[in-house]
Amino acid sequence: MRLSRYFMPILKENPKEAEIVSHRLMLRAGMIRQQSQGIYSWLPLGKRVLDKVNAIIREEQNRAGAIELSMPTLQSAELWQESGRYDAYGKEMLRIKDRQDRPMLYGPTNEEMVTDIFRSSIKSYKDLPLNLYHIQLKFRDEIRPRFGTMRSREFMMKDAYSFDLTREGAEHSYNKMFVAYLRTFDRLGLRAIPMRADTGPIGGKLSHEFIILADTGESEVFCHKDFVDFDIPGEHTDFDSVEGLQAIFDKWTSLYAATSEMHDEAAFNAVPEGDRLSARGIEVGHIFYFGTKYSEPMGAKVQGPDGKEHFVHMGSYGIGPTRLVPAIIEASHDDNGIIWPASVAPFDIVVINMKAGDQACDDTCELIYAALTKAGKDVLYDDTDDRAGTKFATADLIGVPVQIIAGPRAVANGEVEVKDRKTGARETMTIEAAINRFVA
Ligand code: ATP
Ligand code: MG
Repeated sequence: MRLSRYFMPILKENPKEAEIVSHRLMLRAGMIRQQSQGIYSWLPLGKRVLDKVNAIIREEQNRAGAIELSMPTLQSAELWQESGRYDAYGKEMLRIKDRQDRPMLYGPTNEEMVTDIFRSSIKSYKDLPLNLYHIQLKFRDEIRPRFGTMRSREFMMKDAYSFDLTREGAEHSYNKMFVAYLRTFDRLGLRAIPMRADTGPIGGKLSHEFIILADTGESEVFCHKDFVDFDIPGEHTDFDSVEGLQAIFDKWTSLYAATSEMHDEAAFNAVPEGDRLSARGIEVGHIFYFGTKYSEPMGAKVQGPDGKEHFVHMGSYGIGPTRLVPAIIEASHDDNGIIWPASVAPFDIVVINMKAGDQACDDTCELIYAALTKAGKDVLYDDTDDRAGTKFATADLIGVPVQIIAGPRAVANGEVEVKDRKTGARETMTIEAAINRFVA
């Protein structure tokens, strides 16, 4: 992508409305734009990051055996009347009437709709287990939308829903998502710690919030510090192994970890003092087993091996991609801007032409840009006629992991500079060496 032909509206000034660093940087880097309170456009740079986040989420959901579909944002109120949640949900739900005066709503979540899809076609335990997911916009009329897309009214959610014949089956389905979440957040460059969450009237222990530690987080959290270094399950984890997944779950729930709602002071104080971590956190995911809460009122049942009908056991599993993007920034930035983990960076490399219009600089940059693009890299080429200082500041702000800098003096020697955004380390090398480093 040539910057001269791209749309990346950088802000020079710090936007006054932004209270936290991720919001400030997303606005300054031209990633998002607020359209009305808590409702955002994702501008091209932001959209690239969001797409990469979603691609990783999707890969890990698929690996765990979940199947993607797409459900609409607008839902009929009837389904929610069946489950009893139409009246229970309150003001967070945006209620709409269509031209025939039929009550509709902008979905805040999809348990009812997916249960309806399930009951319309699945009749036998032989079709289970099943886990259906989509990545779709949601709307919740939050009382206090804030921090940009961290807490917005319209936001994206990956929501998965599992269906099993028995509670034991549902526990295995839960563990699949538990492990998929550990892998997903790790690949996004984050350390997310699963913390016990309230199960309400359902009871039991099967509800976890995945929390990232960050000073600007909205939740107060308490955990054992060893979680920070626990190993993440590998990509060859056997998701069909009931014992294998249970062992991972047991390990990751063996130490103390709770948000303030579930905090047990005495249990926390039993952790040796030097191992206690009390911090603030951002909830980026939430998984929940809720048994037959929706299948019973909505009549979602299958015939079991015993020939009888059974209401299916369900769970739901959410991740917030539009919250994850700012969460990644909260975890990875410096005074100059964002530092993207390579896995979600909007571009892999930015090529900076320090003197656009200078034949040797132009030729060198074109050569590098073409070679890296051909090798499948996402390259941003800063071919604008801005001052070099402005270009450096922009490159640092938008956080692309690698900068290749071509200035007249180095280019005259057949050389360029390669800068690592994270460490700031700079190396001078031949043009060929610079290309080979990223093509190999
Ligand atoms: P919170 O406690 O932060 O309000 P929640 O418990 O209402 O979240 P869930 O219903 O569990 O959220 O939704 C699943 C995921 O969707 C959350 O873990 C979060 O990542 C994301 N999410 C929820 N609400 C918002 C929001 N208003 N803006 C952005 N992301 C959100
Ligand atoms: Mg939650």
